[in-house]
Amino acid sequence: MSKSVLVVGCGMTGAVTAFLLSKLNPQKLMISCWDKARGAGGRMSTSRNKENVNQTVDLGAQYISVTPHYQHIHKKFYDDLLSTELLIPFTGLIEGSRHGEGTKNFVAPKGMNSLVKHFLSMSGANTHFNRTVKQITDINGKWQVKTDDGLTESFDCVIMTPPVPQILQMGGDIQQLIESQPVIHNCLKNVKYSSRYALGLFFADGAEIDVPWTASYVTENPCIRYIAIDNKKRGKVGGASMVVHTSVPFGIQYLESDKDDVQPIILDHLKTLLPRLPEPSEIKCQKWRYSQVKQSYTDSPGYVELKSDPILLCGGDAFVHSNMDGCLSSALKIVNRFVDLFNKL
Ligand SMILES: Cc1cc2nc3c(=O)[nH]c(=O)nc-3n(C[C@H](O)[C@H](O)[C@H](O)COP(=O)(O)OP(=O)(O)OC[C@H]3O[C@@H](n4cnc5c(N)ncnc54)[C@H](O)[C@@H]3O)c2cc1C
Repeated sequence: MSKSVLVVGCGMTGAVTAFLLSKLNPQKLMISCWDKARGAGGRMSTSRNKENVNQTVDLGAQYISVTPHYQHIHKKFYDDLLSTELLIPFTGLIEGSRHGEGTKNFVAPKGMNSLVKHFLSMSGANTHFNRTVKQITDINGKWQVKTDDGLTESFDCVIMTPPVPQILQMGGDIQQLIESQPVIHNCLKNVKYSSRYALGLFFADGAEIDVPWTASYVTENPCIRYIAIDNKKRGKVGGASMVVHTSVPFGIQYLESDKDDVQPIILDHLKTLLPRLPEPSEIKCQKWRYSQVKQSYTDSPGYVELKSDPILLCGGDAFVHSNMDGCLSSALKIVNRFVDLFNKL
């Protein structure tokens, strides 16, 4: 008889987990993916200009830096993404970047969320957005999963991939499970994220952004840490767009502020750095409360097992490190453990 698996979170870890699960044995597993957001991507998010849908900007992850170690162990994933041209080598100038020898940089011409969508679509999972999981409870050996608007469904197995503080906020048995395992509870509580704001700016046709770099790490500004000319980053001429990331101290200072109040402050700083910047036609402001992982789960195990029967596993970049390879490693470890546990059921 087939078993149902729910993957909570349609970011990179959730999408790759669903894809790897789908390759195990399609007859035995019915895979669903739920996310609270309106679309796939998570922190690999790509925003579109409402007025011109061809203009996009990556508000979270910017480019993929792959060390020689990961070029080797994640070769299959990168070969797939490069052969489909969802990833291409990054050829622009990154001012102030610090990458080790042999590290290769890649960009996603269709936006970072296209990578996540690719794995989700290859998984064939039954995917639903606007579903915020609020409670997970063991009812007679099945996980009863409840959303904030009262939708309830049961699954044989659940895999959680939201940022750790969002897992810790969930109700039902998951809370007791975590609290009854003090080592796991402490390790989860010790996971720390940085916080920052991102601005996406879209410019009218013909607007020129006159800078020599494609992306730049800013060192001497109290607000801005990183700027990229997003269309140039993806090798696209015209349809200029720009992303600005604030520094972490700025993000922390304004963490509880309304993003509408923070946007003009960031724009003022941007004008001091780039006084000749044309006026944007559209601006998006994103608060990343959970941005990159500052402190991973102790010893970076890739996943944590909250219960073996019924299966309840948690994973994500917090269980390895905060980039594409962290997500791929986590998904591979989740699925390895899942197979072990599943075969014992
Ligand atoms: C500003 C910024 C810059 C970055 N730069 C880079 C970079 O250049 N290169 C790089 O490789 N990485 C970068 N990263 C890190 C990278 O984005 C992350 O490591 C990766 O996206 C994490 O993926 P994930 O699937 O583990 O988590 P997420 O992407 O956070 O996915 C978790 C998903 O769970 C969903 N969710 C949360 N709670 C619930 C709930 N209750 N119910 C249902 N769904 C829920 C969320 O909506 C989200 O979609 C950056 C991140 C940020 C924020």
